[in-house]
Amino acid sequence: MIPNWQRKIARERIRILLREAESEVRQHPERSRRYAELARKIGMRYKVRFPKKYKRKICKSCFSYLKPGVNCTVRLVPKERCVVWRCLECKKERRYPYAKK
Ligand SMILES: [Zn+2]
Repeated sequence: MIPNWQRKIARERIRILLREAESEVRQHPERSRRYAELARKIGMRYKVRFPKKYKRKICKSCFSYLKPGVNCTVRLVPKERCVVWRCLECKKERRYPYAKK
């Protein structure tokens, strides 16, 4: 069992790392990727979920912080009723179904 106070610190660190990852994505993509990867590792180690707004923003294969218009594309596929996030660093795609009503 992971004590709550540790998880609280982990959550705080993740928030800070993701914020840094976001602000560095344009000028220092490699640094940004490292922050994002670290955030993910902390999340796994302490079993802490990512804040909702960041959920889709880490590439699941190369751990880049994804920012639409910078290093990823987001498109709708109405036929499949899903949103496709494509990472331009590693070209991997991830599909998310539309939110159910
Ligand atoms: Zn990627």
